Amino acid sequence: MKVFKFGGASVRDTERIKNTASILQRFRDESLLIVVSAIGKTTNALEEVTQAYFKQTGDAMQRMEAVKQEHYRLMAELFGTENHPVFAEVNDIFVEADWVLEVEPEDSYDYIYDQIVSLGELVSSKILAAYLREQKLPTQWLDARDVILTDDIYREGWVQWEETQNRADRIAKPMTEQGGFTVTQGFIGSTSENNTTTLGREGSDYTAAIFSYCLNAESMSIWKDVPGVLTADPRLFENVTKLDELSYREAIEMTYYGAKVIHPKTIKPLQNKSIPLYVKSFIEPDGSGTKISSETEDNYPPMVAIEGNQALLNIATRDFSFVAEQHISDIFNQITAHRLHVNLMQNSAISFRICVTDSDDKVKDFAKAIEDTFKVRIEPDLELITVRHYNKMTLDELRADKVILTENRMRNTVQMVAKKVPPIRRKAVDG
Ligand code: ADP
Ligand code: ASP
Ligand code: MG
Repeated sequence: MKVFKFGGASVRDTERIKNTASILQRFRDESLLIVVSAIGKTTNALEEVTQAYFKQTGDAMQRMEAVKQEHYRLMAELFGTENHPVFAEVNDIFVEADWVLEVEPEDSYDYIYDQIVSLGELVSSKILAAYLREQKLPTQWLDARDVILTDDIYREGWVQWEETQNRADRIAKPMTEQGGFTVTQGFIGSTSENNTTTLGREGSDYTAAIFSYCLNAESMSIWKDVPGVLTADPRLFENVTKLDELSYREAIEMTYYGAKVIHPKTIKPLQNKSIPLYVKSFIEPDGSGTKISSETEDNYPPMVAIEGNQALLNIATRDFSFVAEQHISDIFNQITAHRLHVNLMQNSAISFRICVTDSDDKVKDFAKAIEDTFKVRIEPDLELITVRHYNKMTLDELRADKVILTENRMRNTVQMVAKKVPPIRRKAVDG
């Protein structure tokens, strides 16, 4: 069997859903497990619903209604009638949100987030499965929460592999062994108490890798709006080229440093079982895409990844004691407890510097947790530029218009934490 993953862009409207179904027609005789993301930008919209509800701004219901209407409109276009049974199924899922939104919030933000935001994948998978059945493709629907067990850290559940493997053997394997298509949700899992969790934003690629691993898939394919893995994000750079092949090692490095095309956690489970990963275009399904496996030569052109939303934290001991092993261990315990993503680190005698992804209040909460021993200076609104297989020309081009706050240079990788030059200074330089 093979695992396919279709992201939000591939199901964002009627035309795209039809396109996805036509790609799947080509594989009608195969056994496929199909992982699907929420439709278009639904996850963002549901995040806004959650925020409105949690802060009780008064418009949570209204925002939720807009999400529902968008889905109903899409279904009406796809199925032509509101009498199709999928309307009731989708409605049943949305009703759960109404139950949450009707009462005042009591649980933690992260818990509520997962209960609301997970609805996006639940409804998209229902719609896609129903549409595939409509196209006479033999399709079953699988609740990913019955298979993927996580710990109870909401919004960033960590997979409990042993139990997930058991459940995959018990529940998912018999489904895929019947042949045909099994459609399931990306991004979501559940705790041992059956509460819904999410795996972290953009986590659907990772879900596909979890299923690939547990079901010993022959290959995994992720269908994207790009021809494959490129040397940089085409939305930010011109003159990018496609990489026909990549090693697992290169792919894990690129994605770890922020190449947005694949979720960073995706590669490890695949590498562990030597399952090849294909990155293919749903716009040009006949294109060769990129193959990620162990069978490649490591000879690459410069590749660039840019991560916005970064903060540089300077952590200094208050009593001028050295930042020694015990301190570093204390700092890292708190980093783990706050699920901070550290993208770069450096240390000197009495200070320790990390560049982290600045999401919600995580950074502030972390600084607070260590404030008794450490003074933390936070510089927000930065970007982290990573260049693999760098050369001077690439670095010089990237440095233009930027103030580089710190730089790390390794054999194959340069990382720069950068701030855009404020317009006034740029003018002075130009003039
Ligand atoms: P999905 O719909 O599966 O969630 P994403 O939007 O997460 O897909 O990923 C595809 C996007 O990743 C592309 O549209 C592209 O803008 C971006 N991207 C960033 N870095 C790269 C890269 N090195 N190669 C290809 N695409 C990249
Ligand atoms: N829908 C989720 C998100 O947008 C997961 C995913 O698409 O990968 O983050
Ligand atoms: Mg994505």
